[in-house]
Amino acid sequence: MNQRPMTARQLGLCACHTCGLLSKWERGHVDLTCPRCRSHLHLRKPDSIARTWAFLIASYLLFLPANLLPIMHTNSLFGAQSDTIMSGIVYLWVSGSWHLALVVFIASILVPSAKLLALTFLAVSVQKRSQWDPIQRTNMYRIVELVGRWSMLDIFVVSVLVALVQLQSLATIRAGHGAVAFGAVVVLTMFAAMEFDPRLIWDPQDDAS
Ligand SMILES: [Zn+2]
Repeated sequence: MNQRPMTARQLGLCACHTCGLLSKWERGHVDLTCPRCRSHLHLRKPDSIARTWAFLIASYLLFLPANLLPIMHTNSLFGAQSDTIMSGIVYLWVSGSWHLALVVFIASILVPSAKLLALTFLAVSVQKRSQWDPIQRTNMYRIVELVGRWSMLDIFVVSVLVALVQLQSLATIRAGHGAVAFGAVVVLTMFAAMEFDPRLIWDPQDDAS
């Protein structure tokens, strides 16, 4: 009853990533192509972990300027002001818009750092061929991917902020270098999640059985 279902890899089969056709996988053949659509065939995303790490390290490096450099410069009748993500949150909180401060904090600091940490954890665990709860780790990956699709929330928050400030006073807003770094972090983390192959989580289990 407790028998594990066979995987395509164990049966020597490989599904095409483009058209889904199942082909025979021969060991040693590096340059196999799909007989139907001519796409390259591979059992796992090639160099998945190395590519995930490359995008993750780039994200970590840009995470610092994203949070330390001003994300926007405001010019109004009352003078010029530069805000980082954190100083913007503090400003919103102090001026009484605590709900908006909370949204910006969750979208701009909490979610991106949680995503980075989750992907790092997944990459390390796969590299160490960890056997720890693959279902939990697959769920974690699913959440990271789901959040990736909603990453535009951050941009939405910035546009709401711009609209609010433009309405309130005769002010102009320019995006700072922090905004560029922040956008890059969002995109690079999405790439890191795309390059990660969740099937690698299950491989140590299949090899052990
Ligand atoms: Zn194909």
